[in-house]
Amino acid sequence: MSDCLFCKITRGEIPSRKIYEDDEVFAFHDINPVAPVHFMLVPKLHLGSLAEAGETHAALLGKMLLLAPVLAKQQGLDNGFRTVINTGKGGGQEVFHLHIHIIGGGNIPPMVRRN
Ligand code: AMP
Ligand code: ZN
Repeated sequence: MSDCLFCKITRGEIPSRKIYEDDEVFAFHDINPVAPVHFMLVPKLHLGSLAEAGETHAALLGKMLLLAPVLAKQQGLDNGFRTVINTGKGGGQEVFHLHIHIIGGGNIPPMVRRN
């Protein structure tokens, strides 16, 4: 996708604070972090969201999930981290290129607040 923000980031056409890259995936710091460590792991392949993934993407998605804790540890998150995948407008997704948020450090509140 030529006009997709995260495609442009993975191609180096828009600058980012990269933390990891290989032939299939790219990781970079979120421009508007919600915690001391907040980065994104994305496939280089354009997939609009998790809802657009299929059986052919199983290995790629598995690779990303297995890479998340490795990168989190490299970023100093020895004590754990949160992974978030927003999917579709109903899930609060704003950038329509599949991405895993990896968030940690500081005080991470419960994700769902119960009154
Ligand atoms: P989502 O709501 O899951 O689609 O998340 C989109 C995320 O992309 C937000 O956390 C933004 O802060 C982040 N973001 C938007 N533009 C950039 C950018 N140019 N570089 C890094 N992160 C970005
Ligand atoms: Zn894209």
